[in-house]
Amino acid sequence: MSERFFVEQPIATDEVELAGPEAHHLLHVMRAKAGDTVRLFDNSGCEFQARIERLGKQAVRLAIVAREAIERELAHPIVLGAALPKGERQKWLIEKLTELGVTRLIPLETRRGVAQPSENAVARLRRGVIEASKQCGRTRLLEIGEPASLAAFAAAAPADALRWIAQPQGEPARPLAGRTAPLFAAVGPEGGFTDDEVAATIAAGWSAVTLGPRILRVETAAILLAAWAQ
Ligand code: SAH
Repeated sequence: MSERFFVEQPIATDEVELAGPEAHHLLHVMRAKAGDTVRLFDNSGCEFQARIERLGKQAVRLAIVAREAIERELAHPIVLGAALPKGERQKWLIEKLTELGVTRLIPLETRRGVAQPSENAVARLRRGVIEASKQCGRTRLLEIGEPASLAAFAAAAPADALRWIAQPQGEPARPLAGRTAPLFAAVGPEGGFTDDEVAATIAAGWSAVTLGPRILRVETAAILLAAWAQ
């Protein structure tokens, strides 16, 4: 796969302009020249072959040469609500969830959460998704949803979805071979969900599911759920 770049606006014409961090990557990291070809994606499920026409100081103009529909998403969606860890571990979580094909991530506001998701944090997560998507070949981005309380996340899951709240004392997770419904899963903060949070989620129709006898970090639990549901 040659170098891939993300275009914010859906590509609908045969010329596009890259600006911002993507133009910076092309101009100053890749040191692109006019006539070079690269691949573009625009979150539409297509990949585009494009030729560099003009290089500015902060923007690059490209001509679209070819368009190809490429499906690299999961057959059945995974929607993960997670209390975000801090700093580098948050970045790492986003990279791995993007690679594993998670459909949507909702930053969860929980009683014992440490990193309550700010607007800045959500913008940083989205940038992490783009970086990881460029590398792993996704043509649709992992969607970062608006931060939500566990109760709102639980209520938003459709009744026909598999709905799991990860809880060390829960029931063992069932193998998911043959699954056709989406999986909604919730992962708590380092301090865990409170008993009230767990009880209310179970009352909303969710199952408490254990991932084994050891206590996992938030990001390990989230990745294990994403891997389990492949
Ligand atoms: N201190 C908490 C654990 C927090 S770990 C406690 O002892 O309960 C952070 C989150 O990861 C948990 O809220 C849970 O959602 C998930 N998690 C960690 N280990 C898990 C396990 N073995 N099984 C299921 N979920 C787990």
